[in-house]
Amino acid sequence: MISYKINMFLHQYVYCYFNNLEKIPDGYVIHHKDLNKLNNDISNLELMTNFEHKSLHNINKKHALKNTTEEIIEDIKNRIKLGEFEIKYKLSRGIWDRLRKVYL
Ligand SMILES: [Zn+2]
Repeated sequence: MISYKINMFLHQYVYCYFNNLEKIPDGYVIHHKDLNKLNNDISNLELMTNFEHKSLHNINKKHALKNTTEEIIEDIKNRIKLGEFEIKYKLSRGIWDRLRKVYL
């Protein structure tokens, strides 16, 4: 029987519960895929490293691409091809245009 820390955030609890973890591993965070922090459905939660998470959320800042992982870049490329613009990353049109020039 796993005993959970009482001060865990709901999204952390949900993730741990469904993945049979006692706590979120050190250096990792739970990301809300649809960027809606109130949507704590397990399908919306993703475990990622602090570094990846920061990169993901900084991606619309000026120099964010320096910190971006291969995986995120792959995802961006796919979304550019599919024409899914700000859906996941909530980017402005200008930033997407810049990314498109870089990656296509
Ligand atoms: Zn996040």
